[in-house]
Parts: sequence; C-alpha cells; structure tokens
Amino acid sequence: MPRPPAGGPTRRARRDFFHAEDPAGPFLDGPNRAGPDTIRSTAPRAGLPPDPEPPPRPPDRDARPALRLRRRAARPVSIRVLGCSGAIAAGCRTTAFLVDERVLIDAGTGVGDLTLDELARIDHICISHSHLDHVLSIALLADAVLRQRLAAGRGSITVHALPATLQALRTHVFNGVIWPDFTRLPSPEAPALRLQPFEIGEVLSLAGRTIEVLPAAHTVPAVGFAVRGRRGHWVFTGDTGPNPALWQRLREIDVADLVIEAAFGDDERALAAISGHHCPATLIPELADLPPGITVHITHIKPGDEAAVLRELAAAWGDAAPRPLVAGQTMALD
Ligand SMILES: [Zn+2]
Ligand SMILES: [Zn+2]
Repeated sequence: MPRPPAGGPTRRARRDFFHAEDPAGPFLDGPNRAGPDTIRSTAPRAGLPPDPEPPPRPPDRDARPALRLRRRAARPVSIRVLGCSGAIAAGCRTTAFLVDERVLIDAGTGVGDLTLDELARIDHICISHSHLDHVLSIALLADAVLRQRLAAGRGSITVHALPATLQALRTHVFNGVIWPDFTRLPSPEAPALRLQPFEIGEVLSLAGRTIEVLPAAHTVPAVGFAVRGRRGHWVFTGDTGPNPALWQRLREIDVADLVIEAAFGDDERALAAISGHHCPATLIPELADLPPGITVHITHIKPGDEAAVLRELAAAWGDAAPRPLVAGQTMALD
C-alpha cells in the first residue's frame, strides 16, 4: 500500500521566504498599472531563485523602526477557492482561485461569486489552459468591470498564458462573434485586456507575489502554477493526467499545499486517459512518492463522481486520504 500523504501541518523545516507587502491598494494607480509590477524570470533547474536582497540596514537609528515596520506589515498569501468542480451543477463552480485581491488563477464559473468591486480589483489573470471551464469568466469579467475600471483610471487587465492558449482566446472567444474583442476595446491603445505570453518554467512577479509556471499533461497545451509563500509553495496542477515532469519539479521546490485534480472515478479510467485527467487509480501511485508534510487537496471532480473518487482514495489511505477542496474556503500561506 502506498504511503499516505500527510494531511496536517508540515513537520519539516521550510525556507522562510521574505515577502514584500502587496504595494498597492485598489484603485490607487494609473492606466498603466498592469505593466510595472509584472516582473519575469526563469526558474533554475534546482530551486527557485533567491528573493531579492533586502536593502542594507541604514546606520542611523531613525531608520531602524521603519525597517521593522515594513517586515511586520508583510502578510501571508491568501488563496480563496472560488470554484473547484469539474463541471457545473447547483453548488458546483468550475476552477478559479483568487490570490490576495489582484491575481486570479483560472477564470471558471466560480468568478461569478465575486462582488463587482472585487472583480474590478483583479489586475492579472493566469490561465492554465484554453478549455472553457477555465476561461469563460475572462470574457464576462472584462465586460462586467470595464466601466468601473475606466472611471477609476484603472489600466488593462493582463491575461497571462501559454502562447497557444492566448491564440485560442483570440481565435475562438474574442473574435467579435462569440464575444467582442476586448483586446482592442474600448480602444486599441487602452484595451480592457492585454494578452501576455509565458513559458513553462517562467517565474512571474505579479502584484507583489511570485508565481512559477509548472508543466501539465492535458489534451491541449496546459500548465499548473506554484505560488510562493513564506512556509512553502501552494501548488495547483491544473488539468493533468500522469505527469513525470511535474513531479520532477516538485521534488526541487518546497511544497506546502498541493491542489491536484482527480476528475473521474476509476470506473471511467478510460475516459480519464483520453481526456488527459486523473482518476484515483492513476493519482494514487503519483502521490505515493510525495515528500512528507505536504497537505494534499483534490480538485476538479466531476459532479456526481465525488462519492466514487473519495471512496477509492479512502480505500488506499483510510482517514489519511486527501480531502476535496470546497468552494468558498480560503487557504493562507503563512
Ligand atoms: Zn481541461
Ligand atoms: Zn477543466
């Protein structure tokens, strides 16, 4: 029997990541707000790049309280689960996570639970892949917040994704037929959306948070994301089947929480295989190699398959089986 994943708090020492406080509150910035706080780099083969060196401590006494104040103000990363189902039904919302207030990871139907003010604060959307259950709220969000962001002098929302994903959005969503082309509206110079490509392995710095782009194995080009927190990374696999490249990378970074998908029960293993998803039979062997001290959460279960997936995971691990995510819960990486 594979070793169960730990569900409780981590026991091993973790790197104490320094985090800058999210520098801007909502609606404080000019129309180019999405640009300057976007910093990109590429992850090295082993481990993430070190955080920037803090400024040298000033010799005069008067400056020291200010430095201590800045460090106290740093707050944990907040991950709010807006949607974590593999399809819709009453009470089931598709994939979306809100990082603090200004960064959205995937834009499934769960985005619709945010208030208009909350929607209008989102400056960055990181998209795992082009499937509709992960992108449809980009289009609806752009329309919903356009007037409020214009009135506030807020800039474009930046959509970050693989080039193939962005091309799919241009061709199939923002084409003037399915939806207006918000990459050129209300004007080409200041559109509602800007599309920004990334590559697997790239490390994004968005709104003061650090997010690495991870590999995924799906039916279309796809990625996952690792959000860096002070006690380790919050990792979201995206839609994926068995994926050795992901596990290679996860062995190199400090993982605190792993959000991994299991879309189907084992009776639909063939469907899971051809659709690039996990079922418990393929997920259990991958989790068996997980280092200790990582909290595992299951996501993207198809409505109606929840009982089968949880029963099959419990058959392998009993009470130590990972729990499913619940829409509305908030995880803090402190
Ligand atoms: Zn998908
Ligand atoms: Zn999906």
